[in-house]
Formats: sequence, structure tokens, C-alpha cells
Amino acid sequence: MITRIEIQREKLRNTIDIMLRNALRAFFSVCMNCGFCNNVCPVYRATKNPKYTPLRRVITAKKLLEGQIDKEAASDVLFSCLLCGACSSACPFGLDIYRIIYLARCKLALEGYGPSNFAKMAEGAAKTLHSFGVPVEQALREIRSDELEGFIDRKDCDVLYVPSPVETAFMPRHVYETASILKLLGINWTISRRVIDCGGNIGVDASRPDVGLKILLNLLNVAEELGVDKVALGACGADYKWISLSREIIDELGIDTPRITFTSIYELIAKRLKTNKLLKKKDEVVLHDPCSMTRYIRVDRSYKSIIPYAKKPRFSGACTLCCGGGGGLSLRKDSFARNLLLSIASKRVEQLGSVSSNIVTPCIKCYISFRTAVLRKRLVSKIRIEGLSSYIVKKLKEEDTY
Ligand code: SF4
Ligand code: SF4
Repeated sequence: MITRIEIQREKLRNTIDIMLRNALRAFFSVCMNCGFCNNVCPVYRATKNPKYTPLRRVITAKKLLEGQIDKEAASDVLFSCLLCGACSSACPFGLDIYRIIYLARCKLALEGYGPSNFAKMAEGAAKTLHSFGVPVEQALREIRSDELEGFIDRKDCDVLYVPSPVETAFMPRHVYETASILKLLGINWTISRRVIDCGGNIGVDASRPDVGLKILLNLLNVAEELGVDKVALGACGADYKWISLSREIIDELGIDTPRITFTSIYELIAKRLKTNKLLKKKDEVVLHDPCSMTRYIRVDRSYKSIIPYAKKPRFSGACTLCCGGGGGLSLRKDSFARNLLLSIASKRVEQLGSVSSNIVTPCIKCYISFRTAVLRKRLVSKIRIEGLSSYIVKKLKEEDTY
């Protein structure tokens, strides 16, 4: 049981500084300045502005640590990064560029130099333990349905399902759909009234690890109390990034946490669907490959096995384009962020739409980004976008299994 849930800001700031210093030292002892990382950065490619290359961002992080740059200027360079990891995938040495940028952003946000709305968002999230500040009661009202009846706060189950806060805040239907699949497949699962987020969106996108850790430590506590040693996360890129990044921060802070493993909800569903041999009726779809699932927790094989007949996107794996939801651009209201996101989303719809007019995505943020682009580009009658849970429910109904 974790008893110390309040994170000391000062200690966390020092820890982030140490992690950043070590990461920069390792980076500059290996990087050979080849520029491969720059060529794949979606922000640099969209803006052509040299200050937004991965390398310039790393140099900005170094100057920030050394106190040689104005913090507002550093904030502009670092908070325009999507934390998508394309640069790291392209680097011949696998240098973790996005991790350096992330740590530098945490430093800035903890010092009050994050984008203007992030501090307010962090205040709300710290109170409600939901990244978007949604009060627990409200989130539960939204997700209360017959599908959850009998599955709330059950003890000693195989897995605790924690939906993405994007789902509980904006798309509760996605939570029922996922719950109904788990029920149908006979998975021994539970969902808790006390955990409606793992902290990824506030911890990574808004770069506020202090608040993200508070939410995550609450999750670990509840999982331990329920006697569950596995947590399955709903579909949201930032959550997966947060799990790997927060583990390092927790270790550095020396916090003793229960041994809980994390997975994607689709990994569980894929395993059970394989056993039950469902989804037999083929149709023409292209399955989107979200950057977080393929680069951070590598569950891409699992969700691909759910629709084995799906067409492959032309750009996938290390080459897939990030929606910009991760990295916090979608939380910003300024025209730079809005225009950049729309240009990336339109490109993604074009890439996937050239393979099939039916696009299925396992990531809820990507779903929202695709829908926005399709609406803005007036493509609703030509391109259909579905979340993976909605698609599975539809297919199970077609096959009379539902
Ligand atoms: S993480 Fe993505 S957006 Fe950020 S520098 Fe790397 S490639 Fe560019
Ligand atoms: S790809 Fe790797 S080695 Fe090349 S410039 Fe980028 S970080 Fe340095």
C-alpha cells in the first residue's frame, strides 16, 4: 500500500533536472548530427520552421537546463512537440529524443511556463483525479449503464479496466461498448468507482508529472485493494507513454509501488477473440496503426489479430503519423496548434482513405482527430471512421454472437 500520495514539488523538480542532465549527457556523447530525425518530424515537415526540428528541441532543452535561454522562447519550441517518437524511431542509435523533450517540458511546466491553460487544467485534475477535471460523480453518471452492472469494484478479478479519460469525458458510449465486449467474451474483469484515469493526459500532454503521479498512485492503490495485479487501459496514446515515463520517475523518487502490470484492453480482447474464433465475416476496412500503441507498448500485433482481414495502411509502425493528441496540442486553443493539427489530420485521412474508405482505429484520440478532419473537409459521405470497440460490437451483432 502506498501511503505517501502527495508528491513534493521541489523534490520532483530536482529529480526531473537530474534525469534531464543524464539524458542530455548520454545524447551528446552519441548523436552524430546526421539529421535523420529531422526528416521525419511531422511538426517540422508541416511548418518548415527550423526551430521545430527534433535536434533544435534537444539543444533548447540543454540551454534551458543551463539557464541560457528565455523560458517563454523555450516553451514555444518544446510545447510544439507532439511527443510522437518518430524522431527516436528514425535515429540509427535509437536515441530517446522525445524523452529529453518531455523532461524539459516537465521542468518548464513545473516552473509555470507551460501553455497558459495547462496550469488551470492541472488544478482541476489534482482535485478530481481526472485529467480533464471531470468530477468523479459526473464521470460515473455518464458511464453508469447496464453493461457495468455487477462489474464495479469486484475483488480478485484478473484485470482492472481503466477507460481513457477522453472516453469518460467525451465518449462514454465507447466505455459501454468495450465493457459489453469484455462481458461477452467471459473475461474476469472489474471497473472501479475510484479510478477513472491513469493520469496520462495531464502527466504527459500537459507535462505535469506531479498531478499525473497523484492520479497514477491512486490507481495503483485501488488495484492493490481490489486484489488485481493487471490493469488494462482504454485506447488513448498518452496513457501508454505515461506508464513507461512515470515508471522511471517513480523509481528515481524511490516510491515503493505494488507490482501491477499494464496492458491495452485490446490485448485482452485479441487473446479471447482468438480462442472464440469470432469476427469471421470479412469486409473491406483499413486498420489504423496509432503511434503510441506501435512505438511505446508494442501491442500492435494484438489489435491487428482482431481484424486479420483488414488492409494495411501505407504508413504504419515507425512511419505512422501522430494525431497530435499526445503532446498536448489538442489541449491548446491557439491558431498555431489548431492549424497544425488539422493539417496533420487531413494528411492522415488522405493516407488511409487511399487504402479504404472504411477506417478503423484503436485509439480514441485518433478517432476524434479523424472525425474532425472528415467533417472539416466535408468527406462524411465518402470516408467512414469507427473506433475499434464499435467495430467489434457491430461485427459481433452481425455474427449473432452479441
Ligand atoms: S517527438 Fe515527434 S514531434 Fe517531437 S521532435 Fe520527435 S518527431 Fe518531432
Ligand atoms: S538521427 Fe540520431 S544521431 Fe542523427 S541527428 Fe538525430 S539524434 Fe543525432
